[in-house]
Amino acid sequence: MSLQNPIFIPGPTNMPEVLRRACDLPTIDHRSAAFPTLLAAARSGVQSVLKSTSAQVFIFPATGTGGWETALANTLRPGDAVLAVRNGMFSHKWIKMCRDFGLEVVMTEVPWGEGFPVDWAQEQLEADKDHKIKAVLVTHNETATGVRSDVAAVRSAIDAAGHPALFFVDGVSSIGSMEFKFDDWDVDVAVTGSQKGFMLPAGLGITAFSDKAMRATDQAGLPRGYFNIQDMAASYAAGGYPYTPAYGLLNGLKEACDMLLDEGLDAVFTRHSRIANGVRAAVQAWGLEICAAHPDLYSETVTAIRTPARFDAGRVVAHAEAAYGVSFGAGLGDVAGKVFRIGHLGSLTDVMTLSGIATAEMTLVDLGLDITLGAGVAAAQNVYRQGKTTTFLEAAE
Ligand SMILES: *Cc1c(COP(=O)(O)O)cnc(C)c1O
Repeated sequence: MSLQNPIFIPGPTNMPEVLRRACDLPTIDHRSAAFPTLLAAARSGVQSVLKSTSAQVFIFPATGTGGWETALANTLRPGDAVLAVRNGMFSHKWIKMCRDFGLEVVMTEVPWGEGFPVDWAQEQLEADKDHKIKAVLVTHNETATGVRSDVAAVRSAIDAAGHPALFFVDGVSSIGSMEFKFDDWDVDVAVTGSQKGFMLPAGLGITAFSDKAMRATDQAGLPRGYFNIQDMAASYAAGGYPYTPAYGLLNGLKEACDMLLDEGLDAVFTRHSRIANGVRAAVQAWGLEICAAHPDLYSETVTAIRTPARFDAGRVVAHAEAAYGVSFGAGLGDVAGKVFRIGHLGSLTDVMTLSGIATAEMTLVDLGLDITLGAGVAAAQNVYRQGKTTTFLEAAE
């Protein structure tokens, strides 16, 4: 890859220079008066991005995977049941972690490209009269397939079943890029990382806990050491960490939140939605299929694109990198070799996206697909220029 090109993998994402610099701090004494101010700003910034007024934010030197573990280890007991759906590589891995912890997983598999089956979940919860299910796990945006599940609808299903389970949402590839309403959706634990919507280097596992989830931490019984949020909460109360914090990344996180909030969350979500529409218009112009099974499921942060039968999608990723120095995402798990992915989240403009679409298009043509050069780019241009209707002559009047 070339470091001068934008990157089109769905994380880590492109880093704005201002955030790169924000991570580059001289050594800070994390027991000095400077640190608590920084920590408080980073935590309250995350809370605002989550549209929450009450979530308790815990930030670990880790990644999103550490956030999964934080959610489980702090709230559940050995043998507890959790409800989950396998619809892509990330939901698959979170389920595996549940099993590694000795949890019983009440699960269903849906074809990769489908979303969370809300009716199935409601039936399971209604049938669970003894309340053995202690938590419902949802992957808001399945990054492997570019599928967005309806978190609000899952919340409604839990409520309709009158079930007391906790509600855990993996928002690693949605938070900061797609609408996420921690309070309105009554989420109990939200999980993300620094290297996707927050546009930072990898290195932070970011979690947010509701009051209900905080209460569950008193009865939790899974092994927990490093990810114990009770230890973290005690140190936070004193303005610090139980160990050496990643203060450069925390400063980056504070700046990233400011950047998102200054742009305006709704403007950020609209930008992602417009960019995604342009990518999907290009895919349609190429005559290729989107992995997400129907438009309600389309992700605003990543598009997985099916290549024709017997055409190894991995060749697209390999050729784009070798010939043009541009990285796209490969297919994972069940869709390996069948899809390639265009990541379109984080620090990205319409104009940057056009370069990715143009590169994917050159690659597909190079590999012999029957696509007219410029077709996808033109389709995206038509999306991106909409609303800007002032013509040259009108402007000159
Ligand atoms: C990237 C990702 C993860 C894993 O996060 P890491 O930071 O790589 O540990 C989990 N879930 C989803 C949906 C992701 O996109």
